[in-house]
Amino acid sequence: MFRFDALNVDGVREIKSGIAQLLDDKYADVFPADGNSKILIKPNLNSNMNALTGNTTDLRVVAAVIDYLKGRGFKDITIGEGTNSGFYRSNISVIERLKYDELGLYYGIKVKDFNYSESAPVSFESGVAAGVARECVEADFIINMPKLKTHFEAGMTVCLKNLIGCLVGQENKKKTHAALSDNIVNLNLAIKPSLHIVDGVIAMEGLGPTRGTPLMTGVIFVGDNPFVVDLMCARFASFPYQKIGPLAAAARRGILTDEHLSFVKAFPLQRVHKFKPPTAGPLATFIHSPKRQKYFLAVRQTRLFNYLCSTEIGGKLLYLTGLRQDVFIKDEMHWEGLALKKERCTDCGICTKYCPTEIEIPQAFDKAAGMETQLQQRCIHCLYCFSVCPESAIEFLGTQGFMEEQARQYGQIIKKMVNQMREQR
Ligand code: SF4
Ligand code: SF4
Repeated sequence: MFRFDALNVDGVREIKSGIAQLLDDKYADVFPADGNSKILIKPNLNSNMNALTGNTTDLRVVAAVIDYLKGRGFKDITIGEGTNSGFYRSNISVIERLKYDELGLYYGIKVKDFNYSESAPVSFESGVAAGVARECVEADFIINMPKLKTHFEAGMTVCLKNLIGCLVGQENKKKTHAALSDNIVNLNLAIKPSLHIVDGVIAMEGLGPTRGTPLMTGVIFVGDNPFVVDLMCARFASFPYQKIGPLAAAARRGILTDEHLSFVKAFPLQRVHKFKPPTAGPLATFIHSPKRQKYFLAVRQTRLFNYLCSTEIGGKLLYLTGLRQDVFIKDEMHWEGLALKKERCTDCGICTKYCPTEIEIPQAFDKAAGMETQLQQRCIHCLYCFSVCPESAIEFLGTQGFMEEQARQYGQIIKKMVNQMREQR
């Protein structure tokens, strides 16, 4: 029988204690017995927009899993992800921008961008073979850690679709396009994570996977079967599973069965939400219609089209028409520090709830009390505290670079969402 659990969480301490307790109580036996086993954590780092925007896996949830693994004595832990092709093509390290590299340093574990991995072949539709990162094949235990998001082409992206990030570089990701849903299923038949931990703390609704709206759902789903977990996520978001490409493909192929469906239907899910669907603008909807998509794919693979996409004006046009959701900004963030505007701080404690390394903010700004060593030793520069402070009491010193775009699109939405959550509690 399948295993599935839902955790309701709010704040880093609840996330860490909730995950540790759930894994200990119900999943302890699925982990390897040998502490030297190779453990791979596979988050969703599809864009350089952080978890607060609903785009990528929350550093707090990954930190909770690492804490648990270290507590169990595992020594060989890697975080691995092949980030979105556009960023890779533009030589932008999403792993660095999202501060996963610093999380790795903080915990003394490896972080790998699969776009630069050696590859191992996996069979796709029509006799095509695509290369997945060797680390995925060689790991003894894979923990799939997707974000709960809507997706314009696939309906939703959760466990099944998250494995696209195991493919090496754009050349292999491209091979999924001709039969995206079937190839996602094929990937899941080849790479079989042992555990799935879905970050639905801040999910995404609307025009996902990158331009949707964050939705504070405060949930983490844990399970051992990706079809069950994705079906449950569809139920949670009030989406018919038949409209979610990989689930529909798995049902058509007889991989998703009545056993999965009955389990999900009978599970006592405490609450559901009504996610806004991922409806795109008229041009993107027209082009991505199943009848026309093959023609678009043929154009998309030409050199001329790829050249035009790489120009600034081409990129802007694609973004404005909704054919591209990401903005590939080259400017990096330059960090000089954080400062507290004491007169604004209401001591509400929200910033501490969002700090992946559990720094006590705003006390950590108190130099006289010697608290600033927390910031010096444990800050991974994620800017979660800065982004959520409802009073804008935390000041960023330096230049924000690419983060300005996140602030432009999501700054006010994040503060409002976090404030609403505080008022409800
Ligand atoms: S979130 Fe802002 S106002 Fe609240 S304690 Fe932190 S710094 Fe102060
Ligand atoms: S203090 Fe702020 S920037 Fe530093 S790790 Fe914590 S949340 Fe991130």
